[in-house]
Amino acid sequence: MSPPVSEYFNVQDIPGAGRGVIASSRIPVGTVIFDSESPAAHVIFRQYRKEVCAYCFRYDRGRTLPVRDASVGKVFCDASCQEKWQRKEGDLAVAAWQALQNFTQVNSKAVEDTWSDAPRTGKPDAKNVSKHWADVAQQVDAFGKQTTKRSNNKNGSSKTLKPFMKQINPDILGLFLSGVIFHHRQPEDWKNEVLSLAMDHAPYRSVEDLEAHCNGFVQLHSILPPELQSSCTADLCRVIAEAGSHNAFGIRSGSEDGEEYMGWAIYPSASYFNHSCNPNLMKRRVGSAWEFWTAWELEEGKQCCISYLGGDEKDLTLTERRQRLKEAWEFECMCERCQQEAAE
Ligand SMILES: [Zn+2]
Ligand SMILES: [Zn+2]
Repeated sequence: MSPPVSEYFNVQDIPGAGRGVIASSRIPVGTVIFDSESPAAHVIFRQYRKEVCAYCFRYDRGRTLPVRDASVGKVFCDASCQEKWQRKEGDLAVAAWQALQNFTQVNSKAVEDTWSDAPRTGKPDAKNVSKHWADVAQQVDAFGKQTTKRSNNKNGSSKTLKPFMKQINPDILGLFLSGVIFHHRQPEDWKNEVLSLAMDHAPYRSVEDLEAHCNGFVQLHSILPPELQSSCTADLCRVIAEAGSHNAFGIRSGSEDGEEYMGWAIYPSASYFNHSCNPNLMKRRVGSAWEFWTAWELEEGKQCCISYLGGDEKDLTLTERRQRLKEAWEFECMCERCQQEAAE
C-alpha cells in the first residue's frame, strides 16, 4: 500500500479508527496540502452527457457544451479540452470509448436511462452477490474459449450473449470502462491503492441492480479491444462497484456543495482522510481532481479531516448525522463535534 507523500502530513494508524492523516508540522490556514489527481474510476450520469465536459467535469448551468464528439458520445468545453482528453486517454482507450458508444447506439432499445429505478426485489446478501459474480466470470471464460477462432462479435447480437443483453446501463458500462482503462495504464496503482480501499461487499440496492452490474461486465468485455480485455475482469468490475459505495466523491456543479449531482468518482489517495462533522480541511474540485486545503491553522499532530456529508447535511442534528454516516459509511461518528454535542 502506498499512502500519499506530503511535506505537510503523515499517514498513521489511529487507535480504533484505522488509519488517518496527521499534520507533521504547524500548517497555516488556507494551505493546499493535497491534490488527488485524476480518479481511478468515475461516472458522469447519462442525463448529463451533453452538459459536463469529459475532460475537466465543467458544467455550465445545464447548457449543452459546444464541442461534441459523437463517436465517443462525449462533450467538451472547447477544442483544447477535447485534445487534452484524447491525449490523456490515448488511442486504445479512445477506441474503447468508441466501441462503447457504438454498442449503446446499436442496442439503444435496451438502454436503461437511469439506475435509480425503484427496486422490485430486496437487497441481495453477500453470498448471493458472490454467486452472481462467479457465474458471469465463468460465462465470460466460456465465451472466450468459444470465440478464439471466430471474429469477435462487437454489437452483442450473438446468441451466447443474448441472456445478458436484456438491459443496457450506460452509466455502469462507462464506470467500469474508466476503471479498466486506469487498470490497464497503472496496474501497480490499482493493486496498491484501489484494492486497499474499504469495500462494501453488498452495495447493490436490489437483485436487479446486482444483475445490471454483472451483465454490464459481460457486455463491456464483449466489445472491448483485445488489449483491454485482460484488464476487464469480473473481479475488477466488482471492486469498482464495491469500493464506490464507501469511497465515492460526488461530482457536483460549481463548489463542493453545488446543487447538481452529476456523477461520482473514486480517488484512492483522498480516501486516507477521515471524516469529521466539523472538518478542518475543505476541498474543491479543480478539473477532474480535488484540492484539499486547511480551513484554519492546524497544530502539529492534529488529524486532518474532511466532511463526507454533503453541504445540505451539515445542519443536521447529531442523531441525523450519525444515522446518515452509519447508513452510507458504516461507522459511528465519534468526531469532536459529535462527542461535544452528545455530552450536552
Ligand atoms: Zn473542459
Ligand atoms: Zn461527527
